[in-house]
Amino acid sequence: MKDCIFCKIIAGEIPSRKIYEDELVYAFMDIGPINFGHTLVIPKEHHASSSTIPETTAGRMFRVGARIGVAQKRALDADAFNLHLADGACAGQVVMHAHLHVVPRSADDSFHWNWRQLKYETPAAADEAAEKLRAALKLHPDR
Ligand code: AMP
Ligand code: ZN
Repeated sequence: MKDCIFCKIIAGEIPSRKIYEDELVYAFMDIGPINFGHTLVIPKEHHASSSTIPETTAGRMFRVGARIGVAQKRALDADAFNLHLADGACAGQVVMHAHLHVVPRSADDSFHWNWRQLKYETPAAADEAAEKLRAALKLHPDR
């Protein structure tokens, strides 16, 4: 896609530090890593959202991401890794070509996800949200 920075990286028009490539996905070093070795796995086909990526490609992204995570542990002395994907601007997606972050982690890396754990006001409120989700999945079985 014209004007997409990650499509340009795949096409070789913008330089990248390639880690892995096959017919479906391309993986390269993130230019602003959370930790050194932070890598991005992207579909070769342009998709802004993860929700439109075909299952085979999405599965390959996850598989390659996990393999790269293991490589980070073996080669970079990481203890663990995070797989992270932001879908949509308010989820933190800045580049609108879907990408899976593979972030190497170690016990002393001083990085913390800003995680929280809310509580549903009542069990019924949780039931209602679950039912809405099940209905939406039924209505749109392909996405
Ligand atoms: P997100 O916030 O999930 O959209 O993440 C976008 C990521 O792309 C950020 O971590 C950036 O550091 C990274 N990024 C942006 N431009 C480049 C580039 N030219 N090469 C490598 N990584 C990039
Ligand atoms: Zn693109």
